[in-house]
Amino acid sequence: MIYAELREAVCAYAIRMWKAGLVVGSAGNVSARVRGEGHFVITPSSIAYDELTPDQIMVVDAEGDLLELDDEELARAPSFETPVHLGVYAARPDVHAIVHTHSRWASARAVARVPIPPVVDEMVVYLGGPVELADYAASGSDELAAAVVRALGPRSAVLLSAHGVLTTGKDLKKAFKNAELVEHVAEVVTRAEQIRGGVLPHLPAEVVEAEQQMYAIVKGM
Ligand SMILES: [Zn+2]
Repeated sequence: MIYAELREAVCAYAIRMWKAGLVVGSAGNVSARVRGEGHFVITPSSIAYDELTPDQIMVVDAEGDLLELDDEELARAPSFETPVHLGVYAARPDVHAIVHTHSRWASARAVARVPIPPVVDEMVVYLGGPVELADYAASGSDELAAAVVRALGPRSAVLLSAHGVLTTGKDLKKAFKNAELVEHVAEVVTRAEQIRGGVLPHLPAEVVEAEQQMYAIVKGM
């Protein structure tokens, strides 16, 4: 099995994502860049997480074509959302892992189509600023990939309209932490908006600027 270690890690984080309640059923997906190879490993489509094994993690090239095909692998397909992952990897050389979830609070905002403004210090330091909203496009389409890349910008989290949320990282650990953080922040901000009954005060611009400089450093650590 090629890239065995990375496929084991992707499998482990996918199961962790499911156990953490960030997805239900076979929703969501996890991928990682194979450094220096131009290849990517990604969870397969429509396999329940309690049945997922490392050998089921697919390997694709930058065009999304499958590598290491055997009879059994032909029966599976890489995640339906592979174009989104590949689009982000192409646009962001600093990104080496992606976690896409349907976590509840982040998804609620994505369905309501309300981005998360920069009102919490930690989201600027770890996610790079606001969590913007990618325009709606059909799941699995190149249009969705382009919309996600556009709304993600240089940051580490983005909401997908009417769908869910995607986070990035320099490795799987970081991308997963960001998936947990964006869900936490989505809940806190949404509840705070309810308490206040409207728009929340933004952080001072100079603080956001300083925190974004920290983000540029922290992102690579
Ligand atoms: Zn999804």
